[in-house]
Parts: sequence; C-alpha cells; structure tokens
Amino acid sequence: MTGTVDRVVLATSNRGKLADFQHLFADTGIELVAADEAGVDVDVEETGVTFEANALIKARHAAEATRLPVLADDSGLAVNALDGAPGVWSARYAGPACDDDANNEKLLAALEGVADRAAAFVCVLALILPGGEEILTHGRCEGEIADSVRGTNGFGYDSLFFRRDLGQTFGEASVEEKAARSHRAAAVGAMIEELRRRGLTP
Ligand code: IMP
Repeated sequence: MTGTVDRVVLATSNRGKLADFQHLFADTGIELVAADEAGVDVDVEETGVTFEANALIKARHAAEATRLPVLADDSGLAVNALDGAPGVWSARYAGPACDDDANNEKLLAALEGVADRAAAFVCVLALILPGGEEILTHGRCEGEIADSVRGTNGFGYDSLFFRRDLGQTFGEASVEEKAARSHRAAAVGAMIEELRRRGLTP
C-alpha cells in the first residue's frame, strides 16, 4: 500500500469496545470511524474457534463494503481453572442471547469455591488494508476473577476482572487506568508499531 493509514473503520457494534478503541487511538493521528457511521455492516456469524479466525471473519466481512482500511478485534476472557473458557465464546457464555450480567453470574457460579482465580483477557486485532493486505497483532492482560462484581465502569467481565496493581477491578478503574494495562491497549500498541515499521503511520 502507498500513502499512510489516516482513517480506519472499526468493525464492531459493541459500544464498550468502541469507547476503548477511541481512547487508545486518540494520540495516534489515525481517525477511527464507527462502522454504523461508515455504513458498514458488522453483523456476521463468528464461526471460528480461535480469536485469530474470528477477528479475520469480522474484518473481511466489513472490508468488502468499504475502500477504507478496516480494523476488527476478537477478544475474550480465558480462565485458568476453566481450561481457558469462556475464551472465544466469552460474549455468548450464558447463551446466544445473553447479556453481561448473565455471563458474570455464570462465571461466578462456575468458580464457586475454586481457589485458583487466575485469568487473562486476550485480544487479537485484524487490520485489512485497501489492497487486501492483512495484519494481525495480539495483546494479553493478566488478572484474577473477583468473588463478586465490583464497579460499573467498562463492559463485559470488567467488574469481575481484578488487578492487584490497582487493588481494583476494571469495573472500578478509570478509562485511563484500564487503557494503561488492557489486552486491547497491548494489541493496539503492537498494531501501531507494525504500521510504523512499514512506514504507514501518519
Ligand atoms: P467479541 O465481540 O466476540 O470479541 O466478544 C468479546 C467478549 O469478551 C465481550 O462481549 C466481553 O464479554 C468479553 N471482553 C472482551 N474484552 C473485554 C474487556 O475489555 N472487558 C470486559 N470484557 C471483555
């Protein structure tokens, strides 16, 4: 690709993710365009069994509808004592039409009486450039699952995801505190670095 990546369509309808990404791209010189604003359809079935496969499914589906670079992420929570579950099924852990509260309740029930609370958020980013080139980056954030929900910030499993360095869950932490540590921040940092290496940053 020639020129720089100045505007990127974010292929998600998840408002929590959009807020996270907007904060993370704020100082990069890259403008993030929400999918609905760009008229891009992000409704696609995530049939992959890995984060990489699902990130590519979402990015490729959205890329068909625009000439702009498209960024998609697939992310989730991997819990040690549950052999990495809910993993790629994090959004649908408590059923196909469930919400964050139902997922959190199911996770607490699954870990009732379990001493090993170690968990990690995982994020894979897929960027598709207008020429069709695909770039994947990864991010990970270690933490522990709290005994009960704490805080109302963020989304998904944030109010159960406890960080010892903060003494708080991500649900209690500020956007800045989460952004300095999150899996999404790590994957975005790696993506910016890769674009810089290729001479594609604005
Ligand atoms: P996806 O849209 O298929 O990537 O689903 C990701 C799911 O993983 C979300 O719906 C949340 O349940 C969970 N998740 C991913 N990232 C985060 C995060 O930063 N905080 C809390 N939950 C997250």
